[in-house]
Amino acid sequence: VDGRRLSERLAALARAGARPGGGVCRLALTDADREGRDRVVAWMRELDLRMTVDGIGNVVAVLPGREDLPPVMTGSHLDTVADGGRYDGSLGVLAGLEVVETLVRAGVRPLRPIAVASFTNEEGVRFTPDMLGSLVFCGGMDLEQALEQRDAAGTTVGDELERIGYRGSAPIPSVRPCAFVELHVEQGPVLEQRGATIGAVTGVAGISWTEIELVGQANHAGTTPMCGRRDPACGAAGIVTFVRRLALEIGGSHLGTVGRLVLRPNLVNVVPGSAELTVDLRNGDEAALGEAERRLEAHVEELARTDGLRCDMRRVVRLQPVAFDEEMVDLVEQSAESLAHSAARLTSGAGHDAQMMARVCPTTMIFVPSRGGVSHSPEEHTAPEHLQAGANVLLRTILALAERRHR
Ligand SMILES: [Zn+2]
Repeated sequence: VDGRRLSERLAALARAGARPGGGVCRLALTDADREGRDRVVAWMRELDLRMTVDGIGNVVAVLPGREDLPPVMTGSHLDTVADGGRYDGSLGVLAGLEVVETLVRAGVRPLRPIAVASFTNEEGVRFTPDMLGSLVFCGGMDLEQALEQRDAAGTTVGDELERIGYRGSAPIPSVRPCAFVELHVEQGPVLEQRGATIGAVTGVAGISWTEIELVGQANHAGTTPMCGRRDPACGAAGIVTFVRRLALEIGGSHLGTVGRLVLRPNLVNVVPGSAELTVDLRNGDEAALGEAERRLEAHVEELARTDGLRCDMRRVVRLQPVAFDEEMVDLVEQSAESLAHSAARLTSGAGHDAQMMARVCPTTMIFVPSRGGVSHSPEEHTAPEHLQAGANVLLRTILALAERRHR
């Protein structure tokens, strides 16, 4: 691939929704999203690809194969968070385009068609749920329901698609791929820590979110003896340290986070009356995630008993881990090896369009390092040589798949 062309396109795309501090704000279906889409579509048209836009605004460009077989598909998303970087999502779409352009310029026509997708509303910042476009593409949500999703101002997905000119008429799904592979920045520090250039992604971690409310007795900090207090702040602190201890004990890819903690009335001289906190648990293995949930519940119940607190626990999000196709993961590793790039296997802790595509065809992802493990930030950075390496591994992987008559 042409690494310079890829980097230049990433820079050009980042001008759509550019923010003063160097970040990008291209929330789904805004004017900035339209500008970004228009730019990418213009590049697709220059290559004379067969383009479709479906009812949820997914754009798919297809390079025809020597035979009209189900295509090998790649792609990602163009929307960003409110102050994001230029690589998350954009890399996967533009690297797909780069792969196709490389083949066109070299006069290579693979056996199978190659499809490059840009999925609508992956980030889920403006409209819920996240990964909306790929979810609808895979038949996980009806188009009618998806078009009715509203942002905070009450505007619907359908109206905004209409407004920016991306409510297409192609059937859903517009193509039925034989395989899907997505290139994405890692958004974490693992590849950097292991000194690897390429991540062969084995799956996406399962996610469990629990809201916990602890209720004790609010009272005067100066007149209430320590003995006999029913203090939910102490209980909450116990849960925070337990979540960390549990994660270290389980080890592997397990993660545990208390991201929100609110005390009431939250005043300097009052023993709080209640504490509300959230626990985010993630693991690539369903059994291990379930075990962590059970141990958390047992710990909270025991703590409520010993501290004289009333506790209320609510599971608010539960997503099962997604395991990618083993043969596809092997293929990414082999592709990296054949290009003399070091590769490491890892699980994604973040959600991606690929996890939706895994419902309909053999799927995997390729990660490239994120400097300092930072993403969803203007500081997001991936070295140009890593962008190029990722796109080359994508090219090798896609070509290998596209020359197979049978899987
Ligand atoms: Zn992304």
